[in-house]
Amino acid sequence: MENNIFLTSNPSDKDAYKSIMTKTVDAIVDSVNDSRAYAGPTPQVLGSQVGKYEIFPSKGIGFDALLANLKESILPNFLRTASTDYMAHLHSPALLETIASELILSTFNQSMDSWDQSPVATEVEVAVVEKLCTMYGYNMDSSKGIIGDGCFTSGGSQSNLTGIALARDWFCNKTLHHDVKKYGLPENYRKFRLYTSEISHFSMEKSAHLLGLGYNSVVKVPVDKYQKMDITALAQLVAKDVAEGNIPFCLVATIGTTDYGSIDSVSELRKIADTYGMWLHSDAAYGSGLVLSDIYKNRMGNLSICDSITVDFHKMFLLPISCSAILIKNSSHFEPLELHADYLNREEDEEDGYTNLVGKSLQTTRRFDALKVWVAFQVRGQEGMSTLINTCIDNALYVYSRLDKSPDFSPVTKPEISSVVFRVLSKKEEQVSEEEIDELNKGIRRSLIHEKGIVIGQTLYNGLVHLKFTLLNPLLTHEKLDSLLDLILSLR
Ligand SMILES: *Cc1c(COP(=O)(O)O)cnc(C)c1O
Repeated sequence: MENNIFLTSNPSDKDAYKSIMTKTVDAIVDSVNDSRAYAGPTPQVLGSQVGKYEIFPSKGIGFDALLANLKESILPNFLRTASTDYMAHLHSPALLETIASELILSTFNQSMDSWDQSPVATEVEVAVVEKLCTMYGYNMDSSKGIIGDGCFTSGGSQSNLTGIALARDWFCNKTLHHDVKKYGLPENYRKFRLYTSEISHFSMEKSAHLLGLGYNSVVKVPVDKYQKMDITALAQLVAKDVAEGNIPFCLVATIGTTDYGSIDSVSELRKIADTYGMWLHSDAAYGSGLVLSDIYKNRMGNLSICDSITVDFHKMFLLPISCSAILIKNSSHFEPLELHADYLNREEDEEDGYTNLVGKSLQTTRRFDALKVWVAFQVRGQEGMSTLINTCIDNALYVYSRLDKSPDFSPVTKPEISSVVFRVLSKKEEQVSEEEIDELNKGIRRSLIHEKGIVIGQTLYNGLVHLKFTLLNPLLTHEKLDSLLDLILSLR
């Protein structure tokens, strides 16, 4: 047996661990030697570079030779999320201390399904979830009524799937006296309707499909010019569905749409949800980060009136992928996910004070992502986190004000969080077709990636190609943003 395969108490293993980590850290640090977001190679170049390695040789090449391959082909070609030239997606740079947390959590490789696989980690996740519930306004004092609960997930998509699954099962239990867990979908499942804005995340449709309801159950509600769900249109759509015999069961507010960061009004949505007995889920994958801001927090609205909330920490909270949570207002609503296995989460454990978190999750084996929240919150404190978020929001407002004043750009809407969507207009004097302007915008994004190492976003608004800045990097300055806008204009 080869020596040094794990970190054990054996001194030679400890030395090997330190040596591998130190060499890796040196290689990482050495590879970051300019400010670009991307070195520029095309997919073809990268494909042939990666293709030259034998992935599973009959004899291993050892760590040092492997590290040489990493240094040659992989490390230099990473997308650099920490670069201020990266602003394409809701994909954030990772705070230093939380990268260290990743090392800790994979070194110890805890699994969050049962207490005996994650003793202290379970207690940390429970404490972090309790703190999060409090931050979003859920009651955590059982003497004052129902209490909130939550669970970490792999991302916003899984958090949304969980929230909508709980909504479906709650609705079937309460309204139809039907237990989906035991009997599957009720006879009339084709009439079930979930309402969400037309620009909500596609995990709504995916969830509806996976939950047996299908895309047809998802009703896309038009948005107003601020890209928020049109409440009058929602009320009409629900009323029409009810008149036609359909069954509204869930309403989803988007707190920060993926493209615009626009925020649906949860207080208005709550009224309609209550009128028709619907569950109200908040997809705050993006906008949940506003909770950290001392200035902009109220923009989220009062999320405590929602039955469930999706929170993503790998977006505005600047933590490494993956890190997300589903929070629920009434802890008893996790019941549909509970299932006991004799080998894993015996019922007697809970009676004796051992928490097995598997009963709140779609996953079994699960990462200790809660550690990263625990670490970042303590390291930075409320003030530190608030400053990071405020800077991003201020930058978006700054960009918008510049675009709005300029005849060369057409921005879609004033940002509520940290994304700005705009179209670059043609500098030609004569009339140009929309198709030509589409090509101009696409061309600008492509040359920025491959010629300048700058990665920005692109989307469609009213069927027209628009560019997008998703500003999650608090190192961005107004000067930097000014010079990027100038560069964009010079590429026309
Ligand atoms: C990013 C995003 C999601 C999906 O979250 P993942 O973590 O990427 O799975 C869902 N909803 C909204 C509004 C998002 O912006």
